[in-house]
Amino acid sequence: MKREQDSKFVRVQCNKCKNEQVIFGKISTRVDCLVCKSLLAEPTGGKSKIKAKILEVLK
Ligand SMILES: [Zn+2]
Repeated sequence: MKREQDSKFVRVQCNKCKNEQVIFGKISTRVDCLVCKSLLAEPTGGKSKIKAKILEVLK
């Protein structure tokens, strides 16, 4: 089973400080929380691995 995250925006919530942030589903560099700088998502072979809690996938 594949979980496709590409070409979508994803609204996530930081596990640490509960900040909500919209990130692109397909990233090429790591994305940090703007508030507490903890890792929200990192690229893994063309796909993004999202570490934060996914609230919504925006289309
Ligand atoms: Zn945070």
